[in-house]
Amino acid sequence: SSDAEYLISRIRSIPDFPSKGVLFRDYLPLMADAKGLQVLMNALEAALPVPADSFDAIAGLEARGFLCGPILAARLNKGFVAVRKAGKLPPATISESYTLEYGQASIEIEDTAVSPGQRVLIFDDLIATGGTAQAAARLIARSGGTVAGYSFVMELEGLGGIEQLGDYPCSSLVTMP
Ligand code: IMP
Repeated sequence: SSDAEYLISRIRSIPDFPSKGVLFRDYLPLMADAKGLQVLMNALEAALPVPADSFDAIAGLEARGFLCGPILAARLNKGFVAVRKAGKLPPATISESYTLEYGQASIEIEDTAVSPGQRVLIFDDLIATGGTAQAAARLIARSGGTVAGYSFVMELEGLGGIEQLGDYPCSSLVTMP
């Protein structure tokens, strides 16, 4: 569609960042563009993987899921839950580790951020291998919440990230080679 073309036209691709051989996909120029931000937010809302009345909150992943996640939450009259990198939140927190290409990383939520039975949509700018999104889902489950689905702006082609998420409803706006 022309919306997808417009989104892709405003996404910046940076070779060898943050390390050699990585092609980094940057949606900040898209957000900086007034039309781009409108097209992006309208598209995220239109592409929700589940109806808006089937979840209560949006959990955004640090850092790029913090940019659009709260805008989407406000548009849908939902709360926003911050899933942060390890060591940023005051106690008490729940923590989950996941595997990176080299080594391990951890993400955390406050242990009261999700209430029991709360239905949470997980949002991030980009899914690559899916490891980060899956760790976020484990955090939601351990806090007593339910994962309603996943919403991404970009999906990296050929890494199987979406398949790693299993049967959860999932949407991404654009697939990047
Ligand atoms: P995954 O865990 O392999 O799916 O990696 C996804 C996480 O890494 C997300 O939190 C993304 O924000 C971040 N990430 C990985 N590659 C990129 C990229 O090219 N651009 C922006 N973020 C990226």
